[in-house]
Amino acid sequence: MQLNGKTAIVTGSNSGIGLGVATELAKAGADVVLNSFTDNDEDHKLAADLAKEHGVNVRYIQADMSKGDQCRALIEKAGACDILVNNAGIQHVAPIDEFPVEKYDAIIAINLSSAFHTTAAALPMMRKAGWGRVVNIASAHGLTASPYKSAYVAAKHGVVGLTKVTALETAEEPITANAICPGYVLTPLVEAQIPDTMKEYDMSREDVIKNVMLTRQPSKEFATVEQLGGTAVFLCSDAAAQITGTTISVDGGWTAL
Ligand code: NAD
Repeated sequence: MQLNGKTAIVTGSNSGIGLGVATELAKAGADVVLNSFTDNDEDHKLAADLAKEHGVNVRYIQADMSKGDQCRALIEKAGACDILVNNAGIQHVAPIDEFPVEKYDAIIAINLSSAFHTTAAALPMMRKAGWGRVVNIASAHGLTASPYKSAYVAAKHGVVGLTKVTALETAEEPITANAICPGYVLTPLVEAQIPDTMKEYDMSREDVIKNVMLTRQPSKEFATVEQLGGTAVFLCSDAAAQITGTTISVDGGWTAL
């Protein structure tokens, strides 16, 4: 298959977009390293199930992406890294003058600095292997802003900048670096908010999605983790070999507004 023999590391991949991207990469034949900061039986079961379903090698490696040394250790422990997907991320919403400093620092560390550390550790491996793909999961908030999301918007704009620098430093090598910018994606995190919002506004599920959650997404539909995984697989294909240093929006038209 397309990605047979390649090893993909996906940070923050025991749920949501990370797991969706890891699944599509496994489907395309890549061996996969799943990661999060936890070390539960369910984490290792996810890896075993993915391996069984797609006939590839899947490992789960625990590492906290808020800590630079653990980000680098994740790549070293994996032992190979042809495809690096920087996906781990958290969110907190508050006005700037009330934003808790520890939340700001954690968002910058997990959503932005982790990608610097993993990329620094992965590039020598990609160079040795003579091939590499860095896929950073940014956000529509890497290109536009919303109030109360200072740390998230700063981190995601930073991810887009880091992507461009990575691309320029590898431009003459068979390595590319790009950022995927999702709009709203129906992850378990988002799904869990729907029933409460339905109650709060006395609205149907469809109305909550269209008129509350997706007001900024012109398609009025969520992007799916499968679509994001498919975009990552495309960026790993030969057709994308000259696509580097750019962003691909998967946002139902959000950034066209
Ligand atoms: P999620 O909460 O389902 O997934 C986040 C993942 O990051 C989880 O696997 C979690 O365990 C992991 N994680 C959190 N802190 C970590 C840490 N310290 N170390 C290692 N792993 C850690 O959320 P999601 O919606 O799947 O988000 C994934 C990425 O996509 C994030 O970077 C997010 O900013 C981005 N994104 C999401 C949306 C959306 O609508 N869901 C939109 C745009 C961008």
